[in-house]
Amino acid sequence: MAIKTPITVAYGDGIGPEIMTATLKILEAAKAQIAPEVIEVGEKVYLQGNTTGIPDQAWESIKRTKVLLKGPITTPQGGGYKSLNVTMRKTLGLFANVRPCISYPPFVRTKFPDIDLVIVRENEEDTYSGIEHRETDEVYQCLKLITRPGCERIIQYAFEYARKFNRHKVTCLSKDNIMKMTDGLFHRVFNEVAAQYPDIKSEHLIVDIGTALIASDPERFDVIVTLNLYGDIISDVAAQVAGSVGLAGSANIGNQVAMFEAIHGSAPDIAGKNMANPSGLLNAAVQMLVHINQPEVATTIENAWLKTIEDGIHTGDIYSSELSKKKVGTQEFADAVIERLGQKPAHFKPADYKPGAYAKIECYGGQPKAQSKKELVGVDIFIDNPLDVPADELAAKLATAGSPLELIVITSRGLKIWPNSSIEAPYLRHCCCRFQSAKNIKELKPVSHADIIQLLAKLNELGLDTIKTENLYTFNGELGFTLAQGQ
Ligand code: NAD
Repeated sequence: MAIKTPITVAYGDGIGPEIMTATLKILEAAKAQIAPEVIEVGEKVYLQGNTTGIPDQAWESIKRTKVLLKGPITTPQGGGYKSLNVTMRKTLGLFANVRPCISYPPFVRTKFPDIDLVIVRENEEDTYSGIEHRETDEVYQCLKLITRPGCERIIQYAFEYARKFNRHKVTCLSKDNIMKMTDGLFHRVFNEVAAQYPDIKSEHLIVDIGTALIASDPERFDVIVTLNLYGDIISDVAAQVAGSVGLAGSANIGNQVAMFEAIHGSAPDIAGKNMANPSGLLNAAVQMLVHINQPEVATTIENAWLKTIEDGIHTGDIYSSELSKKKVGTQEFADAVIERLGQKPAHFKPADYKPGAYAKIECYGGQPKAQSKKELVGVDIFIDNPLDVPADELAAKLATAGSPLELIVITSRGLKIWPNSSIEAPYLRHCCCRFQSAKNIKELKPVSHADIIQLLAKLNELGLDTIKTENLYTFNGELGFTLAQGQ
């Protein structure tokens, strides 16, 4: 007898228990070799006072089985509760969010009959690190952190995925025309990694035109790889355009652990009514079966599901009097899929996950690079200026600080407000004062941390409110900071 793969199962909240029961019933009928271990996460756990929604026993099971099939979770309203998905992604290192978007015409309404794309979204970095500060009465910031290993890992994953799943093109979306350092790194790493996969086409698009094209010409895309925030947005655009929000599954993949779920939420409005469509979770379970190397069962289930859809057996969310034959509830839909196990669709292209083709994709990024020569050459000192002291006056005051560092420019929200600024009404409450070791960036020379500490002490004596500093470095002589507009 085949050895069963242990998996952790969380039924979730709202419609979760109904769609999970239906899904597991189909998996069992298809003879998936799995041994489910049930854990309790979500609303009940939150309401018992656990702000993460995940008790210790649940972590223990997930870390042991390394595979989680999860129903949707209701995050209770009100402060203090942390998003369970974000906690899981971060704690388990689930760096890739993989969301296939497929259209199923004519049964699911869409303007585009041939959408078959996969979004690979970076899952751990970007503005989603949750590092936010209020710096002045009026100014808030969110830190966008992008690391080279993070870029390497997700982009490598996208290419490995493309190769394994026989896809032909990877499109990178970024906004590196504006964010030259963070998104610039993502784009650069994309070019480096793409060069290692000559068999797969690659292209880069600025995320705004890329998103417009997903909405207007989605059939041109194959695999898309992008940063966390853009990926979050385009995933919903693509699912909506494909019409498959209620049908799509997604995978959160790490090198050790993977989590599979539907993309929809817990639908409290229809919970307990046997009305929910289990297809999103079932499609996530198909992704899971491929991941745990049971491609034959995945193929059998996906084909039975496609056949059920094309036979017009539909739950209420996709039912239409013209195209559907029978409106069914959650459990009857599951039974209809089970009846069709072993059959292939005639209208849709049958699934065919090749045995042995999907060894687990593990990505660790590139080899560690040689350390660059890093030199401290200046500092940006951010000042809260609540009395709107004009920039000229501020500069005159700063000039009295006396330091090996020279005040070069004062900016506000990235725009030069001193010297020689022609801005009519500059925003003065949040000023960035840039001190460098030389005016000309070609003549920058190293300064010490002690020089910066001394400068900060002087500013304190002058009664200025320093809210933060950012050191200015060069790396092998290359600037590690952008020049202010007009610098
Ligand atoms: P939702 O996806 O739960 O519901 C939106 C609409 O789609 C509702 O009308 C619902 O009835 C319908 N719907 C959703 N899934 C369906 C299905 N399988 N079959 C038929 N109809 C379906 O989104 P929401 O109402 O914004 O969120 C409800 C709760 O779900 C919130 O607490 C939210 O935080 C949570 N949520 C959880 C996850 C997750 O666990 N991954 C994702 C999204 C939302």
